[in-house]
Amino acid sequence: MRYSLFSLLAQALNGQKGWKPAWREASPRAEYDVVIVGGGGHGLATAYYLAKEHNITNVAVLEKGTVGSGNVGRNTTIIRSNYLLPGNTPFYEWSLKLWEGLEEDINYNAMVSQRGVLNLYHSDAQRDAFVRRGNAMRLCGADAELLDRAAVQEWLPYLDHENARFPIHGGLLQRRGGTVRHDAVAWGYARAADQRGVDICQHCEVTGIRVESGRAIGVETSKGFVRAKKVGLAAAGNSSRVAAMAGLRLPIESHVLQAFVSEGIKPLIDTVVTFGAGHFYISQSDKGGLVFGGDIDGYNSYAQRGGLPLVEHLFEEGMALMPMLGRLRMVRNWGGVMDMSMDGSPIIGTTPVDSLYLNAGWCYGGFKAAPASGWCFAHTIATGEPHALNAAFRLDRFATGRLIDEKGQGAAPNLH
Ligand SMILES: Cc1cc2nc3c(=O)[nH]c(=O)nc-3n(C[C@H](O)[C@H](O)[C@H](O)COP(=O)(O)OP(=O)(O)OC[C@H]3O[C@@H](n4cnc5c(N)ncnc54)[C@H](O)[C@@H]3O)c2cc1C
Repeated sequence: MRYSLFSLLAQALNGQKGWKPAWREASPRAEYDVVIVGGGGHGLATAYYLAKEHNITNVAVLEKGTVGSGNVGRNTTIIRSNYLLPGNTPFYEWSLKLWEGLEEDINYNAMVSQRGVLNLYHSDAQRDAFVRRGNAMRLCGADAELLDRAAVQEWLPYLDHENARFPIHGGLLQRRGGTVRHDAVAWGYARAADQRGVDICQHCEVTGIRVESGRAIGVETSKGFVRAKKVGLAAAGNSSRVAAMAGLRLPIESHVLQAFVSEGIKPLIDTVVTFGAGHFYISQSDKGGLVFGGDIDGYNSYAQRGGLPLVEHLFEEGMALMPMLGRLRMVRNWGGVMDMSMDGSPIIGTTPVDSLYLNAGWCYGGFKAAPASGWCFAHTIATGEPHALNAAFRLDRFATGRLIDEKGQGAAPNLH
């Protein structure tokens, strides 16, 4: 069923009785060409691009819960490509380009909204660092604009521009950045992959990876053994646990990240703003709630909920940036499990086990990467080789020292 204005009108006249489920409820078959573990944004996008770009349709996505119940449906929906380092910038810029054509490509309204992402700077040194970042972005074909103090003040007068500790000096703006309705991305990719023949198997937990003579030959699941010529892992916050099933120890720690939503108010913030003197970002959803978040909780956990110290820390940052937040009620908050890598950059590539491929280490920035990650992971699985765009994201960089440490924090995942 193709979604269009015509189908909307036809269903309206028909009492909305003709809508079909967005995808089939599949049970895993005995054997596939490719099995993807994890039905989040990355796993579903991988399955879609395997079918679309490589004509590999004998594929199953095995998801232990429901599609969208992981981080793909828990994030704060920001997309951008404002990275500095050579390994990162072209990859994230490719992702932004895929976002720009995504809704047409998968015939699904994901509410892609290029409302801009503005990173504020609060000192001369920070401005110089942002100039460097902006130039690196422009060299890779991404858009970047430096706004001075007056331009930011005119655009966003409600920020605390004269804050005694953190006065706002200006901002680096990426106009093509913005937000996307997060769970629609999962549903849209699931539907589009299903239409190309992929089996989306929900409530099917992978409990083991069968390896024979150094080669992955399939996975044990809560619904029995599923044989596969190739196995791709895209389990995000659970990556270490899933990879351990094949004897791999990953350079990843799992941490909790929280998100917050306020009561709905009239349109106020028409962009995404990040505070440069701490880690706090805020935007407004189409329903009117202010959506914001910041640092991870800082301790290892697999719980999808966070603690109060971080809540206090985050609200203090928010109040320093935007004092009017103090007049709002918070209505919801939740947590998700982050797969924090040791240099803050992802892993997409082969592993020491033949036919076993890994997609992990997304830290708190993997939502924006989902299209390019799926695209590159599909390429890597189909050809057995990384694409030029993900060549730097190899697992063995942690052994060879070719790290992509965007923040220069070293092996301290809680700081990335
Ligand atoms: C609060 C919060 C805010 C965020 N904000 C942003 C943001 O603004 N922008 C941005 O770019 N990123 C953001 N992120 C990060 C982003 O959401 C993640 O990096 C990204 O979603 C991870 O990839 P995924 O979508 O594939 O993960 P998930 O949706 O978590 O998918 C992994 C799936 O694997 C499944 N799984 C795990 N183990 C097994 C198993 N054994 N068998 C079968 N299935 C299994 C899980 O159930 C899960 O559904 C945020 C994250 C959180 C939590």
